[in-house]
Amino acid sequence: MIRKWGATLLVVSLMASSAAAQDVKTVIANASKAMGIDSLNSIHYYGSAANGNLGQNNNANQPWPMTPLNDYSRAIDFTQPASRATGLTLAVSVVTSRLEPGVFNQTITPANAAWAQQLEIWVTPWGFLKAAAANAATVRAQTVDGRRYQVVSFDVKNGASSQAVPASPGGRPYRLVGYINGQGLVERVQTWVENSFFGDLLVESDYTNYRDYNGLKYPATIVQTRAGWPTFEAQILGVYVNPPNIQQLLTAPPPAPPVLAAAAGRGVAPAAAPPPGPGRGGGAPPPPPTPTSEKLAEGVYRISQNPSAGAYSALAVEFADHVLLFEPGPQNEARGLAIIAETKRVFPKKPIRYGVISHHHLDHTGGLAAVAAEGITIVTPQVNKAYIERALSAPRTLAPDSLAKSGKKPVVEGFTGDKRVFQDATRTVELHVMKGLPHADGNVVVYLPKEKILAYADMFNLPNEASGPVPDPPVRGTIVFADNIERLKLDVERIMSVHSLVPDRLTSVADIKASLGRK
Ligand SMILES: [Zn+2]
Repeated sequence: MIRKWGATLLVVSLMASSAAAQDVKTVIANASKAMGIDSLNSIHYYGSAANGNLGQNNNANQPWPMTPLNDYSRAIDFTQPASRATGLTLAVSVVTSRLEPGVFNQTITPANAAWAQQLEIWVTPWGFLKAAAANAATVRAQTVDGRRYQVVSFDVKNGASSQAVPASPGGRPYRLVGYINGQGLVERVQTWVENSFFGDLLVESDYTNYRDYNGLKYPATIVQTRAGWPTFEAQILGVYVNPPNIQQLLTAPPPAPPVLAAAAGRGVAPAAAPPPGPGRGGGAPPPPPTPTSEKLAEGVYRISQNPSAGAYSALAVEFADHVLLFEPGPQNEARGLAIIAETKRVFPKKPIRYGVISHHHLDHTGGLAAVAAEGITIVTPQVNKAYIERALSAPRTLAPDSLAKSGKKPVVEGFTGDKRVFQDATRTVELHVMKGLPHADGNVVVYLPKEKILAYADMFNLPNEASGPVPDPPVRGTIVFADNIERLKLDVERIMSVHSLVPDRLTSVADIKASLGRK
């Protein structure tokens, strides 16, 4: 169902513009006429859809997991600009292992002007043409896979009603590129948005299977991809043009009841700060709190975060002439920088040489740009290497970060096999790849045999209290974790979770067995 049109991009030939390309104003005007949008101010459409969770795939080389959106509906007012999309989700919770209902609600208002939100209005085929008419666009002819397009490009400075569109954090204007086919229909729109892990992230939306409603053309099929995999898919079943109830459609309902909010909220898997996308609204994550460190053993520190609930901790381990960090770059660049700064404060005389990530998920890699900028070798199983290298090697011009400024090339060590040992005269640290874990391939735990300390991420959540109820059915990750510790015969006294538990504490093998009802 996904057209490979762009992923392959087999033959792209740029034609001599004089003969082929029409005047850009004519191209935009003709397409607007063909699409029937000249008197379109707002639109409401509905159908069935699905959201893909960017950066949360179970294997770094496979598509983002999709969550169906039932009763998908979206209203857009191009004049404000504003948009609201709604839907119902039903998915197995990673926390309870039960099917839980959830609500999807994406609201874009003139007040949340960040491109991460606003782009969803301007990458629609109708929004693209309206923005193209309001900005200084250029056109070129291009043939893709034997099909001829007029490709219209422009920096987005104005919305459709000449509202100013803010530039990127780095001061660059955002860009839109649209592919208009021989019938004047917009088949593809591209833009780029800053992302702490992926850099200048290409957002590509394909519109196919056009239908007609009283002169308005709309695509029955929408596929949006980010970092190469779909983050949104929809079958549009019907549209309303300039709906009289547009303001009502744009008005968000009261907040979801707590039970639904909890079902849609943080489990062991989702990012604490989910990336914006068709599936997500929301703004920039709050600045990370100051890290604090806690000595677990001589030369072994938990680099923590306050307040601790749901926070991400790193583990810093001292060797004779360097330091190793486990989970060095979660969440975002600021968090990665804070972990590095705190580690340097604890070990002022030794360089941080290795940064071992627990797994490739976006909430555990969002701060890796800071790690790469520091010249730290990122260590992960081979299955994740190319994925991380690709993301950290992308241009970072929209929001130049420490990595962009350092000019450094990321160094990623992909180790093969199920084990990687770091050892010198003073310390031994073992990495073990978990087997049989549904959550992520290439998830590693770090084990210090002498200190009997083990650290992990995203395998399970214990009940709120060690004495709390045993989840029924048991959380699969917990079973896998316990089985792996047994299989590897690890002698563990204290277990550190990257995600702080509630209440915050280290746990033991006995706690985990108890949570499974095992002795
Ligand atoms: Zn994860």
